[in-house]
Amino acid sequence: MAGKDVATMEIASKVWKNGEFLDWDDARIHVMSHVVNYGSSVFEGIRCYETVKGPAVFRLKEHMQRLVNSAKIYRMDPAFGRDAFCDATIRLIKDSGLQHCYIRPLIFRGLDEAKPAFGVNPFPNPIDCYIAVWQWGKYLGEEAIENGIDVCVSSWSRITTNSMPAMAKAGANYMNSQLIKMEAILGGFSEGIALDDRGYVSEGSGENIFLVNGGKLFTPPLGASILPGITRDSVIQIAREMGIEIVETQIQRSALYLADEAFFTGTAAEITPIRSVDRITVGQGRRGEVTKRLQEEFFRIITAERPAPFGADWLTFVNAIDEKKTANA
Ligand code: PMP
Repeated sequence: MAGKDVATMEIASKVWKNGEFLDWDDARIHVMSHVVNYGSSVFEGIRCYETVKGPAVFRLKEHMQRLVNSAKIYRMDPAFGRDAFCDATIRLIKDSGLQHCYIRPLIFRGLDEAKPAFGVNPFPNPIDCYIAVWQWGKYLGEEAIENGIDVCVSSWSRITTNSMPAMAKAGANYMNSQLIKMEAILGGFSEGIALDDRGYVSEGSGENIFLVNGGKLFTPPLGASILPGITRDSVIQIAREMGIEIVETQIQRSALYLADEAFFTGTAAEITPIRSVDRITVGQGRRGEVTKRLQEEFFRIITAERPAPFGADWLTFVNAIDEKKTANA
């Protein structure tokens, strides 16, 4: 029940591993695991929000579906399916007592210590599945949600989809993200935007991007080198319901400077306005009207103050787990 307190972060005391609940301190791997040497992991980032009806996980099924999709692309065949990952997550949160948290499911190639294999060929290495949860605040800062952030266009290109598939949320993709993020931070920016190999806007190091022009939303298409973001999809559906037109199209770098508004979307970043790109002010240099309206609806949905667009079911209530059990008893 009691969590582990590391600095200001509260971490659940248990970690789920291959169907069992381990103590946090026992969730360790061998340094010669395949994943450590060759980056062979896929993962997810999911948020559980505090709502009037207790903690609720946002779009859990869609995240876990993306996790198993990522595993499939890399020929990983985990012993657990989407629904088992969903159930384990709810149990973990429920037992942690956390009212809101960030959820990190991970599937990776480990090491069979009885029959160790150290080569690039991943097939001899076992597939291990883990889920950890902890409390995590706003990724780009509390005030970023209101005031927006200053970003740059990265000198690093986004990985091309035929070398590292952007559809998979693979750990190794984040080496590219780290180059983008470090360059941005060292240049005095909060985040970097990567162009794709053809020079069109792709995404941030850990966020999808939207522009607002003349009241319409513009975002790179799913066919581009971007992660199919679940927040991206949520924003598109919220906008559709609000009657805002969405254009999924190639975006040139210079269009970033000329947009009326710009914002990032992501599980960690939620909807974060962008107030400047390469020190060029975007629009009024603060959160725009359309961004604000989308944020308001998004925050009302994640806290269960209003339903998801078009009658969709986006929240999994953690406390419903025991109600389900009682009903079946
Ligand atoms: N792009 C990248 C590279 C990311 O890491 C993320 C965060 N998962 C996103 C986009 C946004 O995806 P989501 O909204 O599903 O979190």
